[in-house]
Amino acid sequence: HGFAEGDRILRVIADYLSAHIGKQEACARLNADRFAALLSYRDKEQLRERVKNMIHGMERLNRSQMEEMAYDVRMTAGIYQIEDKTEVLDKMLDWAKAALSRENMGAIENCGFYDTGIRERMVRQKELENHFEEAVSQRQFEVYYQPKYDVKGGRFYGAEALVRWNSPVEGMIPPGVLVPVFESNSMIIRLDEYIFEQVCRQIRQWLDRGFAVQPVSVNISRLHLYQKGFVERYLDLIRRWHVPPGLVELELTETVMFDNEELLGETLQGFRREGVPILMDDFGSGYSSIQLLRSMPIDNLKIDKGLVDDSTERPKLQKILASVIGLAQSLNIQVTAEGVETKDQYDLLKRMNVDYIQGYYCAKPMPCGEYEKLVYE
Ligand code: C2E
Ligand code: CA
Ligand code: CA
Ligand code: CA
Repeated sequence: HGFAEGDRILRVIADYLSAHIGKQEACARLNADRFAALLSYRDKEQLRERVKNMIHGMERLNRSQMEEMAYDVRMTAGIYQIEDKTEVLDKMLDWAKAALSRENMGAIENCGFYDTGIRERMVRQKELENHFEEAVSQRQFEVYYQPKYDVKGGRFYGAEALVRWNSPVEGMIPPGVLVPVFESNSMIIRLDEYIFEQVCRQIRQWLDRGFAVQPVSVNISRLHLYQKGFVERYLDLIRRWHVPPGLVELELTETVMFDNEELLGETLQGFRREGVPILMDDFGSGYSSIQLLRSMPIDNLKIDKGLVDDSTERPKLQKILASVIGLAQSLNIQVTAEGVETKDQYDLLKRMNVDYIQGYYCAKPMPCGEYEKLVYE
């Protein structure tokens, strides 16, 4: 978790992996906390046993070394069996990732196979994809706004835009279902851009109606980072709708931030130069790097719900959280706590000097009209 121990865990895992694979096999670190191994096998059961043993080995090793840590090490593996030697590595990794998905993993299982069930789900994905154009033209995607609460100012200030899909066939499809599907096929790029433009358009409308408009943050999938012209296209939209750049903010999850630091730095600087604020989303949900706070132009750090939930019961975690908050603020990065549901959590985070609170305790995501009434009328 951003401390020296975090790197140590990953190094222990990397060492273990390379020590446990054979001559004709290979392994690599994909990004922050994800590794890939190419293994040879005789049959499926033998392969499963081997992967399970490796996982147990790594967890045991880490546990004995990390007794003093505030975190547990839990590992999961997705397995894809290569049947055809001409298969492309990218696709293999995608399938292994699909096998890793929560619904494919039994409650106690820590490794899952790519199977026909996944194939079926992928067919369903195809159906969702085919409806995308139609959904856009029929305005089935709706932007909900979740207000953020300014703790020191004692009032709501700004919101996060969250997509909802009102499908005439499927009913309301939540982003938890929608986003992973659209991420697996790059459709997310078009969805995000569409939502971003809707938000720009909405802000323009509020400005025209004479409201003192507050910023709205929009989620940006990590896939954007690899899109040519990403920065320019978004800046164009901001200009086209005559939106003051400070009023639309971008939320990027921290996992994005590991893939390619140089590319990321350039991208963020591109927005920063034009005055578009950057929020680091889901901090603490995976392998978090404190270093990134120092090196990247980030305006706001969003602490993940998971950390918020755990913190009220774990004094040690509170200390870590307090020091992260202090560090961020000393670097002029504001801090938002996400998923705050109870008064206890709110009080604790307020004591820790968090700048903004977002969560059901303050307000749930709501349709645009309701949000307007809450903050502008
Ligand atoms: P996120 O960016 O971490 O957004 C916060 C999620 O937590 C939202 O779920 C929000 O409704 C929920 N939430 C807020 N406060 C609370 C709380 O107190 N308790 C609980 N249990 N939940 C709370 P939602 O709207 O279902 O979105 C889920 C995820 O889908 C988002 O997580 C984000 O990663 C993604 N997402 C949503 N809209 C978009 C979008 O337009 N583009 C992209 N790329 N991703 C999106
Ligand atoms: Ca977000
Ligand atoms: Ca988040
Ligand atoms: Ca999230």
